[in-house]
Amino acid sequence: MSDTNDLYGKVALVTGGSRGIGAAVALRLARDGADVAITHRDSAGSAERVVEQIKAIGRRARALRADNADPAAVRAAVADTVAEFGRLDILVNNAGAGVLGPIGELTEEDVDRVLHVNVRGTYLACRAAAAHLGEGGRIITIGSCMAEHVAFPGGTLYATGKAALTGLTKALARELGSRGITANLLHPGPIDTEMNPADGPGAEAQRVLTALGRYGRPEEIAATVAHLAGAQGGYLTGAAIAVDGGFAA
Ligand code: NAP
Repeated sequence: MSDTNDLYGKVALVTGGSRGIGAAVALRLARDGADVAITHRDSAGSAERVVEQIKAIGRRARALRADNADPAAVRAAVADTVAEFGRLDILVNNAGAGVLGPIGELTEEDVDRVLHVNVRGTYLACRAAAAHLGEGGRIITIGSCMAEHVAFPGGTLYATGKAALTGLTKALARELGSRGITANLLHPGPIDTEMNPADGPGAEAQRVLTALGRYGRPEEIAATVAHLAGAQGGYLTGAAIAVDGGFAA
């Protein structure tokens, strides 16, 4: 249990919580006291394992199948969370598609897929959540260091989508601030997950671009999410926070 983030009685929804950063965030919020719903698209088994881990911590948990590219599924995920737990206090937009490649080789289907999952789905989740969040509510979105610093070719599509989240976050902060709700963006650097394994073919090129000379761990992203989610993050809104080992330094 953390002594700085008291999330007891709070309910969180983490999109893409079946593995990687989202799973670490879900577990951290649960350790800090929150009941947590997670979404996934394909890996129901992994999602159930995260649910079991959260229950073992003593919190309530639920896995929901919801492709972030499907507007109805995103709406339903928010509605089902509120129906199950009675409220919603924290939305973590984590689900993301990582598609890299030369602009001439990316297809229109790639463009639709990435923008639907990373931007439209995130926007619609915020819209649905905003109807339920109250005073002290939190919207925390996982962007990418590539939104602000594209260090190598191949990032046109991914960076376009992640950069769009800056506008969304700042506008949400302005729009929801009067209700006591904060909205922030977190820009991870290279984090060791299935999307970007630290022993993958492009890993060394990313590692040397960080000031710390290493990949981050999902738990290191979760720690900042926990700060933003907790009472101590109450005066932080409209911000983009790099947790990137100095990738953008
Ligand atoms: P990951 O290991 O591939 O995990 C992705 C998670 O999102 C899984 O739970 C996956 O569920 C879910 N997901 C993927 N597509 C989805 C969809 N269309 N609808 C609902 N859920 C979906 O990825 P990660 O590295 O943890 O990345 C998480 C977030 O951090 C992403 O937004 C990514 O862009 C961002 N990020 C990652 C890095 C990095 O280096 N890892 C760096 C910067 C930013 P299923 O298992 O069901 O597919």
